[in-house]
Amino acid sequence: MAFLKDTQRDLIPNIFKINLIQEKNILHLDYITQRNLELIHSLWERGKEATLYSIFNQTHTPMGARLLKKFILQPLIDIEEINQRLNIVQKFKNNIFLRSDLREELKVIGDLERYINRLNYSGRANARDLINIKNSLEKIPKIKELLEKARIPEISEFIKKIKTFNEIRSLIEVSIKDNPPTTIREGNIIKDGFNDKVDELRDIIDNGKKYILEYEKEQKRRWNLTTGLKIGFNNILGYYIEITLRTLKIIKNIPNEYVERATLKNAKRYTTQRLKELEDKIINAEEKINDLEYEIFNTIRENVEKETINVLETAQNIAVIDVLACFAEIAEQYNYSRPFINKENKIIIKAGRHPVVEQINIDEQFIPNDCYLDNEKDQLLIITGPNMAGKSTYLRQVALICIIAQMGCFVPAKSATIGIIDQIFTRIGASDDLARKLSTFMIEMTETAKILNYATKKSLVIIDELGRGTSTSDGQSIAMATLEKLHEMKVKTLFSTHYHPLTEINLQRVKNYHLDIIENDDGSINFVRTLKTGSTDKSYGIHVAKLAGIPDDVIIRAFEILEQIEEKDPFRTAVRENGENISTTKHYDKIINGKKVELEKLYSELKTLRDSLNECNEDLSKTEKNLEIRKKQIKELELNIEAKEVKTPIKKKFVQTRLFEPITDKEKFMDLLNLINNIDLNGDLPEKFKDHITELKNKIEKLI
Ligand code: ADP
Ligand code: MG
Repeated sequence: MAFLKDTQRDLIPNIFKINLIQEKNILHLDYITQRNLELIHSLWERGKEATLYSIFNQTHTPMGARLLKKFILQPLIDIEEINQRLNIVQKFKNNIFLRSDLREELKVIGDLERYINRLNYSGRANARDLINIKNSLEKIPKIKELLEKARIPEISEFIKKIKTFNEIRSLIEVSIKDNPPTTIREGNIIKDGFNDKVDELRDIIDNGKKYILEYEKEQKRRWNLTTGLKIGFNNILGYYIEITLRTLKIIKNIPNEYVERATLKNAKRYTTQRLKELEDKIINAEEKINDLEYEIFNTIRENVEKETINVLETAQNIAVIDVLACFAEIAEQYNYSRPFINKENKIIIKAGRHPVVEQINIDEQFIPNDCYLDNEKDQLLIITGPNMAGKSTYLRQVALICIIAQMGCFVPAKSATIGIIDQIFTRIGASDDLARKLSTFMIEMTETAKILNYATKKSLVIIDELGRGTSTSDGQSIAMATLEKLHEMKVKTLFSTHYHPLTEINLQRVKNYHLDIIENDDGSINFVRTLKTGSTDKSYGIHVAKLAGIPDDVIIRAFEILEQIEEKDPFRTAVRENGENISTTKHYDKIINGKKVELEKLYSELKTLRDSLNECNEDLSKTEKNLEIRKKQIKELELNIEAKEVKTPIKKKFVQTRLFEPITDKEKFMDLLNLINNIDLNGDLPEKFKDHITELKNKIEKLI
């Protein structure tokens, strides 16, 4: 989803649930589980690599090491296939000589896959790749012979697919020099005797050089020189005779055939006809031989390249042999035993051990433990016990033994019967994934959600403490609900917890186990490490706090508080009341109610909005009506005004007639005239016109 958001931006499709397309024939281990179980990479960067891979990897070829990783990450689910691997491991384990001979040969094979792949990049391949391939392939007939002699029917298919490549081996053998250079265009690749033309050119070069030395001696002899004259070579002049100035004085007369080509500080350089001839021969031959060798190299490379698919197939089958021989080796070394694989939906482990802890932690003797899980009676094991008692180790060891068994390898246990598992899920530890911007609790919940959404009856679920990233009551409740759901789903589960009330759950297929410690009189603690039935109700948290040096009065007070809390622990009562027929409907109802309330709220919001919209509409129409009324009023008023204005001109006329009486005051007359002139009959607005007229009227009235 993040990727889609990043790349598509506005085009995110509606995705509600993501389903995994599961690879068939494989025990599915999601990334979280691969990490939590530390299969290939350890959870901690620092310190020694302590992973299943690092403990298991005693393969002798690089392709074997790569295949081992694949075997670890993709265990099988087909019983026949698993048993086939186990049979081979068994035979390799029993036949010590075969195993050690085989592994001795495998050691020197090298990375056949890489060599042949390199050869397919014509630009990068060189003659050393061919030699590497030859050296690797040379070991194969011996390996094949060893395997054939062992008469193990299960490996006959593999043997068939291991080819010996006699042709390309001998082709490389006769053609390519043993220590070729890394360059491919500068010759010195092809062996003497492989190609006549190469031999001939080499002869010319070698002899030509001999002739040049001879010629040098000859020239020296001419003047009885021991020093001061030599033949050299550079890219500009080619071959030249160099004579020091001192020697030139001795020679005095330079012969005619000497052509001067260069003058140095204390020497001169010459060429001669003869030297040029020799040089041409050599240089010609060198150019020709380099091109020729390159051409021959490419032909051989192409011939070998044609076998790529066969070589890769052989390498893959060698890898299988390598890994299975390695399984046999570690089975012997680490004292593993052969698991029984069936379809019975049970996991029965006797005296199982953690493959990595037992190898890494050599100071302490590893204490083995049993495990019994099925879908009918012992489906869900709750494991309690104090800190450091070994809960996490136990949980992981069960998962690892199942993985190892389905890889087709012997397991760290006295005996193990594994009913095929389809997926393993884990929820382990507290690790903040800050890079993914998720809090510890968010990770816990994401992992748990995944388990509840995808686990099947054939899955194995490992939950190493749940609900610790939030408040105790939240956490306990989530843990409890998850437990009930897993019980209902009939998924084989190992569940470790410090929430002791959980152990009082009253469900049919839940079993309690615990890991103890012994508290000595002197206050020290001994780890027992043996899994026992029943639960402990002690976390020894306060004990540990005391050991750490928390003052006594604080410790005593803590015990006091603990007692009070435990006495009236309502959660404990809630858990006790739960049985097989617990009603999940209560919670469900609440969720539905929640949704209802949410919906109702939305509806009422909608209603309010609609009401206010109506109100607005009403207001709007009222205002519109008002507007109309006002407009009407204005119109009427205007008409009224107009009506009144019509009367005035009659009055005006009457006044105007009197204008013709003689006006004696000239100034006043001019004033009146100006006023009239100022009226623009066409341009002025009626209002202004009105003003003018009124003013005129007033003035005239005053005049009369
Ligand atoms: P918890 O999860 O109960 O706190 P761990 O499983 O982390 O305890 O175990 C703590 C340490 O005890 C481990 O690192 C390991 O070294 C040791 N340990 C655990 N189980 C065993 C065992 N069965 N035998 C020997 N040592 C063990
Ligand atoms: Mg732990």
